[in-house]
Amino acid sequence: MYKPEVNNTTSKIVKGLEEWADESAHSSRFASFYLDLLKIQADVESITGIPAVGLPQELIDHRMLNGQSLARFEELDIDWSLANETLNKLAVLFKQYSDALQGYGKLQTEKMPELDANLAQEWLNGASLTAEAEKADILPSEMATLVHQTMRPFLTGYALAFQKRIRQQSWRRGNCPVCSSSPSFSYLEKENGARYLVCSCCSMEWLFQRLDCPFCHNTDQKALSYQTDEKGVYRLYVCDKCKRYLKAIDLRKTEGDVNLSLEAIITADLDLQARELGYTSGENYLVETDEQ
Ligand SMILES: [Zn+2]
Ligand SMILES: [Zn+2]
Repeated sequence: MYKPEVNNTTSKIVKGLEEWADESAHSSRFASFYLDLLKIQADVESITGIPAVGLPQELIDHRMLNGQSLARFEELDIDWSLANETLNKLAVLFKQYSDALQGYGKLQTEKMPELDANLAQEWLNGASLTAEAEKADILPSEMATLVHQTMRPFLTGYALAFQKRIRQQSWRRGNCPVCSSSPSFSYLEKENGARYLVCSCCSMEWLFQRLDCPFCHNTDQKALSYQTDEKGVYRLYVCDKCKRYLKAIDLRKTEGDVNLSLEAIITADLDLQARELGYTSGENYLVETDEQ
């Protein structure tokens, strides 16, 4: 019988976040919400692992060259009863922490939609889940976030499975080659400072131009800029055309292992700084693809 490889993407983030909270004596409702969320996702990853991907290499190469992200739910082996169980758990969690989150206060946790390959695909394609959201008394963007966080631990396994089969040079787009979500973080690599983006959903990393906005593809240098912290470790890239921002870490300035998805969470002060400057996050802001 096929036994999936271990996927510990999220359990590593949990460990890092717990250590960070201890060291920095950081305790907030939002941090404990994040830990509870990540623990539910780590449990899913421990069940699903890294799945086998049966797609032929020619099809993967073809989709990459044509700007089509790789994950299609009808082709993936998703345990939908586990997905629905997870969605319902997350609904209860979000409601429970609605004091620390924007929205979700009125969420009807018993009115969550039945999640299947069709609905998940609609979310992946960026469709607005209006009817489902209305029924559960939340905004469509909030329903999208719930589905995003539910599918995340399933997709992190596929990201690891696809990673070895992707030719980085053939993508270079602003959205994730695996799940088409927006990046929530980026890094400049150690060797030559090339910029990689990190997916807000599946944690996939992909190569992207340094002087290009991943959200609107603005390349006008006058409308693109970044700020750094005193040590030059972190960067805040901003685009004055679409008013979005992207956080980054310069790995040429760090030592030891850096967990990028953890960095995306613990650099919340950069998000605050960006918002104060009038920029918004690209997360859950769906980038147009050439798909369909
Ligand atoms: Zn992704
Ligand atoms: Zn832009």
